[in-house]
Amino acid sequence: MFKAERIDDALIELLCVKGQMVEESLQKIEISYDDIASKNKGPYQTETIIEILQMLACKTSKKEQDSKVYLHSRDHQLENSIVKVGDTLIGDQQPHFIIGPCSVESYEQVYHVAEQMSERGMTLLRGGAFKPRTSPYDFQGLGLNGLQILSEVAKQFNMSVITEIMSTESIDEAYDYVDVVQIGSRNMHNFDLLRAVGKLDKPVLLKRGLSATIHEFKMAAEYILNEGNNNVILCERGIRTYETATRNTLDISAVPILKQETHLPVFADVSHSAGRKDLLIPQAKAAIAAGADGVMAEVHPNPQVALSDAKQQMDLLEFHSFMDQLDNFLHRFSLSA
Ligand code: PEP
Ligand code: MN
Repeated sequence: MFKAERIDDALIELLCVKGQMVEESLQKIEISYDDIASKNKGPYQTETIIEILQMLACKTSKKEQDSKVYLHSRDHQLENSIVKVGDTLIGDQQPHFIIGPCSVESYEQVYHVAEQMSERGMTLLRGGAFKPRTSPYDFQGLGLNGLQILSEVAKQFNMSVITEIMSTESIDEAYDYVDVVQIGSRNMHNFDLLRAVGKLDKPVLLKRGLSATIHEFKMAAEYILNEGNNNVILCERGIRTYETATRNTLDISAVPILKQETHLPVFADVSHSAGRKDLLIPQAKAAIAAGADGVMAEVHPNPQVALSDAKQQMDLLEFHSFMDQLDNFLHRFSLSA
């Protein structure tokens, strides 16, 4: 007689072949003890059979999980997804830029940045109205008023608004002012929020969590896709590491990994990763060279007095120099590619 603790894979296989009952029971896993006992003609005790069935059921569901084709995966969709934002096609093999202040502070502040962006033909304007700040005493954003400012300025320059929504409750009031909903790093694991924006008919820019693995990042995107919203842009924004030279460590390898393993457009946020201005250009070049579909960076007309992220925001001159150097790089890059 076999004892339960001696049951190994070989025995299970043997049972599967020999014991027709085991196979049947697997399809009908909610079989009762009495059912099994009545069918059991030996040689194994009913308890042993139940234990084997449980192990088999466990193996089957693990196998099902391992072979699941996720909506974000290349197995589900081989070709790249293109996310349309206004007339801009994100994921069309051209790098795109999402630019704007960290926080919306005033109409003039956003206007000055948008004006300079417009000179360069840029269409994707960012700005935070609901700000996820570390300290509750720091500037929390202008809320609805900030969204109205963003939307008004964007209209003047024919741009689209990308802004963070921090809670499910703000979705309705924000809806009319937003073109792309940003899910911030701190909310990447907020599954209720992910499900809620998954029901929206607007694109979502999903930022990687502060300490999220690439797998967790992809699964957060899966929550949105699973609700029917296919317009998801992933944004690598640096992760927490032991390194203190930068605010976060831009995980450059995440860019090609996400491009290989998902069909979604991938952005790199060089401002929140570096946390300092002198690394913005090399990080943006690295991200584009690694296959990013675009770059996000923060620009403020007068960063010294910015109400958030003062150290990492470019002023308007720095912004033009950043773009000049990237244009140059892209020109050389496309000639040699
Ligand atoms: C932001 O982009 O405004 C922001 C707060 O970024 P993150 O969520 O990546 O920290
Ligand atoms: Mn910021």
